[in-house]
Amino acid sequence: MRRIVILFGPPGIGKGTVGKILSERWKLPLISMGDLLRDNVKNSTSIGKTAEEFMKKGELVPDSIVFEALNDRVKQADASTGFLMDGFPRNLSQAEMFEKIVNEKDSVVLLNLIAQDSILIERLSLRRICKNCGAIYHLKNIPPKKQGVCDICGGELIQREDDRPDVILRRLEVFRNETNPLINYYQGRHRVMAVSAGDNPDNILKRIEELKLWEQKDPTKLKK
Ligand code: AMP
Repeated sequence: MRRIVILFGPPGIGKGTVGKILSERWKLPLISMGDLLRDNVKNSTSIGKTAEEFMKKGELVPDSIVFEALNDRVKQADASTGFLMDGFPRNLSQAEMFEKIVNEKDSVVLLNLIAQDSILIERLSLRRICKNCGAIYHLKNIPPKKQGVCDICGGELIQREDDRPDVILRRLEVFRNETNPLINYYQGRHRVMAVSAGDNPDNILKRIEELKLWEQKDPTKLKK
């Protein structure tokens, strides 16, 4: 049985921040589709070259590219006991593709992280990331010790190109139209749990731990 957690929610909800900590606690790798694609862009791979133009505009990258990147990643040894997914699936065809990756022994949970748009916009506009190690900061809530410099590796902190105001609005719209409706697809198929995520990471993590995901029987397995 693999433990598979889909970290679900709009851009800026904290999937990356919360996912990194849960990954350490639960000893499961965090597979971030955005990071996988950004690595490909950085390394100018063929995937990266195609993905870049979509990412700049806040649009979804074509499914075939995303599938290729994900398929390679989930086959790696560290994902054999399960994984956390950040940023996948993002539309119906990706959700259907994901069903081919899981089998009936896997325990799949979708954590639906929720907050108001105004909070997301504020978080995304003040977000900075380390160009070198990818660590995530927020200029007000999680500031680096030294301005513009990563606490962890000393790398330069930058603003993601798609964290600019017009692209942020487009990404939220894409989420509303294409990604959020997936909740209906998952209801009844796998466990779906809503988590309020409008405040700080510590509180969000506490709420997730209180769900005691790994102590409960998976009700979707009872039918089988
Ligand atoms: P994120 O880091 O999750 O905010 O993703 C950044 C960008 O990468 C998105 O705006 C999309 O352009 C692209 N992307 C990430 N995940 C996916 C996905 N599952 N399907 C298509 N595009 C994606």
